Amino acid sequence: MSDTEEKIKNKKNGSKSKEKVKIFTKKKKQNQPELAIIKKLQSKYDTIDPKSISKFGDFPLSAKTLKGLRECGYHKPTEIQKETIGLALQGKDILGAAQTGSGKTLAFLIPVLEKLFVKQWTKLDGVGALVITPTRELAYQIFETLRKMGEHHDFSAGLIIGGKDLKFERNRMDQCNIIICTPGRLLQHMDENPLFDCVNMQVLVLDEADRCLDMGFEQTMNAIIANLPPKRQTLLFSATQTKSVKDLARLSLKDPSYVSVHEYSEFSTPKELSQSYVICNLHDKIAILWSFIKNHPKKKIMIFFSSCKQVKYVYEIFCKLRPGISLMALYGTLHQLRRMEIYENFCQKQSAVLFATDLASRGLDFPEVHWVVQADCPEDSATYIHRVGRTARYHRGGESLLMLLPSEIKMVEKLEERKIPIEKIEINPVKLNNPVRKMEAFLAKDPSLKEAAQRAFVSYAKAVFLMKDKEVFNVQSLDTDSFSKSLGLAFPPRIRFLQRMNAKMEQKNMNKEINISSGSKKYFSIESDEEYQEDKVQGKNESEDSGVSEEDISQTKSKSNFKVDSSDESDNDDILKVKRKDHDIELPTEKEMADLDLGRNKGKKPVTKAAAAKKILKKKIVANKKIVFNEEGEAVKGNKEKKSELAIEYEHEDEGGIDLEKAKIVLREEDKFDKQLFKDKVKAKHKEEKRKLKEKKRKDKEEAEEEKDDFGESDSENDPDLSWLPDPDKFYGEKTEEEIENLRNDFEGQHMKKERVDDEECEEVDTVGRKEKKGKKRKPKEKIDNLETVLKKKKKHKIDQISSSLDVNEAEELALMLLKNK
Ligand code: ADP
Ligand code: MG
Repeated sequence: MSDTEEKIKNKKNGSKSKEKVKIFTKKKKQNQPELAIIKKLQSKYDTIDPKSISKFGDFPLSAKTLKGLRECGYHKPTEIQKETIGLALQGKDILGAAQTGSGKTLAFLIPVLEKLFVKQWTKLDGVGALVITPTRELAYQIFETLRKMGEHHDFSAGLIIGGKDLKFERNRMDQCNIIICTPGRLLQHMDENPLFDCVNMQVLVLDEADRCLDMGFEQTMNAIIANLPPKRQTLLFSATQTKSVKDLARLSLKDPSYVSVHEYSEFSTPKELSQSYVICNLHDKIAILWSFIKNHPKKKIMIFFSSCKQVKYVYEIFCKLRPGISLMALYGTLHQLRRMEIYENFCQKQSAVLFATDLASRGLDFPEVHWVVQADCPEDSATYIHRVGRTARYHRGGESLLMLLPSEIKMVEKLEERKIPIEKIEINPVKLNNPVRKMEAFLAKDPSLKEAAQRAFVSYAKAVFLMKDKEVFNVQSLDTDSFSKSLGLAFPPRIRFLQRMNAKMEQKNMNKEINISSGSKKYFSIESDEEYQEDKVQGKNESEDSGVSEEDISQTKSKSNFKVDSSDESDNDDILKVKRKDHDIELPTEKEMADLDLGRNKGKKPVTKAAAAKKILKKKIVANKKIVFNEEGEAVKGNKEKKSELAIEYEHEDEGGIDLEKAKIVLREEDKFDKQLFKDKVKAKHKEEKRKLKEKKRKDKEEAEEEKDDFGESDSENDPDLSWLPDPDKFYGEKTEEEIENLRNDFEGQHMKKERVDDEECEEVDTVGRKEKKGKKRKPKEKIDNLETVLKKKKKHKIDQISSSLDVNEAEELALMLLKNK
């Protein structure tokens, strides 16, 4: 640092708390020597030789930057810093690629500070540099690094990420010289904030550039780039740098310098990292993880899963199992403040386990992570590199373990192709400690935990299904039954999308079979070769279809947009919050976003409860109104009138909503009236039936009377009139008293028998299940008296044949017989 600069600084610091006006006048005087210093520094830019650089002081950097670096403990630049800082100072566009943990952050922050310094950037100049990163945590980390090492500069910096108060950010935006942001939130400010203006912007940085430029952020980034001044310097950094010409064209890079410091090194991952993989069954994963954690109680471990619901469940259930080490979970659906809290906590811990989604896979620099375990296979080798890159950072050692299913073995080949040294290890099953019984018990006690397990199960299947690389991922090969058991679930939950897909496939196959059979019939008679050709074509289609259906392919293609996890973990939620006129992204408003369930309503505009209620109110539809329709489908006016006082009162209440308890009581009251009404109706029906029966009997009687007219009058209603018969006594002599008594008993027995039959015939089951006697009973006594007079006149041997139940025909026959005898 030059003497003059030192003096200026001392003077400035000394007067800091005194008078503002003084500072201003002094500053004016100081500008001259500062300009000279700047000129001197700039003159050295073209002669920077990375090979001759051994410490930061060898670069022509401002005293403020050097001081900041020193205070932060940075003395010697890393490879990527040596190679890129010089080029960046010269104003070149850069594509920087270097292994994880190799110091890329400083490689772009130092040039950013220097660029604004030499331009003598002030608050009035507005935004001078933009640093875009894919996740909020990474943006926060970069912001913190900038705040510390840029402390001696006078620039103001702003952290613009989602999940924070937009108004708060908005009011400070115009004062920011350096903005560290996530793409979605930046675009939101560009759209909605009139104070945001970046026409003067000098440097654009994309950290984790390949991620920022991939499909997940494509539209947002295009819209951002369209808003940036074309005359700017662009710096792109990543461990897995993009070489896509399309990406570079999108950014309109001018003759960029491609700097890849480890391109020719033996491996693409840090040499201090020891990497291994294990082939295991899906249902053994939980036991392996649990045993791993129990065996490493003093280590700092990161465990990656493919969806946030898995992270949530495994974290929750493992907390209950009490492993004896701090457990934490970091995933996208957590509240922003909670995310920050967890991030900070894990940074400070000496030993802990952090369950995470790929939200934490890029860029995060947690100090001293010993182990990275990938419980689920990463989507590609780039993701693998970033995940394992959370350990073995900046010359420190670290270990990683990848858990692969037998069906995912192809991943090993892909990793080796990418120069990743990975060794297979075996797990001793005897040493496995399976907590599944305890998990089952916890799930039985806690329905919400059970639900979390079910969600984890389904979201894993979904994640596998959505993976792009079908050579590695095959959702059909998953043993879902035993997997669900290993999560502590008694039964595997339904995976609806899979069932639908299978049904579709079955349908397709059926159609094909039909086509094949009809096709073979068609061609067989013409030429057998043609039939073979036809089959070959079918076979080809089958193999193409065997992966996923067209619809599924489109889902897979747009994976980054629809990713089970990345949507909630990275900044995609930010993207969805943006609305803007000069791009074609259709986005919901902030209000709608609040109600939007990211996991479920993809592609659909969500209807909030409030919106639905408003719609109903507009249509003037009265809630709880019952309309009865007749068979023609016309509404029947006049619903059932309420009878009970309580119901009438309830109906006329003005209060909105439904009081379920009250409604129940009202229903019970109304029920009493309904029951009574029903009883009355049944009674009326019976009465009517009785009346009809009576009527029928009356008619029968009348008919009988008409018939009887042919034979003469009768005393009794039902008995045949035998008075016209000749007196039997005249034929058979007088009967003794005893004989008459016997006859009476005899007859009574017979008659009673007949009476019972009659009774049974009259029995009818009424609608409420009771048996009711019907029809008029004949009085036996009366009949006996009638007969006595008859029988007295008959001979004993003939008497048995004569019964009171003789009908007209029988009586006629008897009469004829007697006449003959006579
Ligand atoms: P990358 O972005 O390449 O993954 P980072 O920029 O996050 O790496 O740096 C990784 C770690 O190395 C950080 O903890 C950082 O403080 C440290 N680091 C970076 N550059 C230096 C340096 N020149 N000297 C000492 N430590 C450094
Ligand atoms: Mg980084």
